[in-house]
Amino acid sequence: MNFELNEYKNELADDEIISDIKSTATSLNVEYLSISLYRQHGKYSQTAIQGHFGTWTNALKIAGLRSVRTPQELKRIRDEDYFKDLLKISTHLLKDTVTFEEYKMYGSFSAESIFKRYKKWDDFLVAAGLQPTGLARHKITELELFDEIECIWTRLGRQPTSTDIINSNISKYSLDTYKRRFGGWRKALEAFVLYVNSNFDSEFNNNIVLETKIDDKSDTNKILQNNNNNDVLFIKNKKTSRNINLRLRFKVLNRDNFTCVMCGASPAKSSNIELHIDHIVPWSKGGETVMDNLQTLCANCNFGKSNIT
Ligand SMILES: [Zn+2]
Repeated sequence: MNFELNEYKNELADDEIISDIKSTATSLNVEYLSISLYRQHGKYSQTAIQGHFGTWTNALKIAGLRSVRTPQELKRIRDEDYFKDLLKISTHLLKDTVTFEEYKMYGSFSAESIFKRYKKWDDFLVAAGLQPTGLARHKITELELFDEIECIWTRLGRQPTSTDIINSNISKYSLDTYKRRFGGWRKALEAFVLYVNSNFDSEFNNNIVLETKIDDKSDTNKILQNNNNNDVLFIKNKKTSRNINLRLRFKVLNRDNFTCVMCGASPAKSSNIELHIDHIVPWSKGGETVMDNLQTLCANCNFGKSNIT
């Protein structure tokens, strides 16, 4: 279930992006299509691709293309190509360093291939003229800004305007912070929407760790079968984590119109209302962290429930 900004133009479909990636690879006659080649010849921006698929590698996999370079292809990449890519990211993030995780998110090359060449991430950063990660000044990440946008949106019970940010103390960060990062308040909202609507790991975030293959004859499984401890058996059967990620939380709030489904209270009508997301079947009783099992409740109705999740 996607939502849109007021008067927001139609959302780009995953299929359109994937078919453009495929046709670009075909027209260039390559098995491996790098993001930098795609940027030169393809139709869509790297941000759009990340918004939809999380990473370029993931997009390649979905398009059915090879997602890693061969050792021969790797050798052909020059140090300067790596440095240029890294500096572009540090400029984009307004930071004098780039973490490994950030590189994986925004980089044009595989971070693993860089590791193979430089052995230490900090050595790579220093070689490119940036600060080692340990010495970096803390800058606000995009995710922290998205988190804050969601917080404000939930507290207001409606789409926040730039006036809300200027005239109230509702935002931790100034309007300028959003402007510097995204180019404007409207653009910040658009980036947020793209992020929330992206299909990448939306509902089953974090579930991989908790999932156990039933037919796996590993020692872990034997331990699970022989152990009478309820917690262990119970983790084995769980599919989703208790934690509700930002995207899912926002989709539930949006589906319920930022209104308590029990009493109809909404922050849009009365500013002292606080909204919570509640597991209908409590997580501790086997309820999953999915859209159908989540609802919006005000603090009063939530704490009135016998099983707080
Ligand atoms: Zn209520």
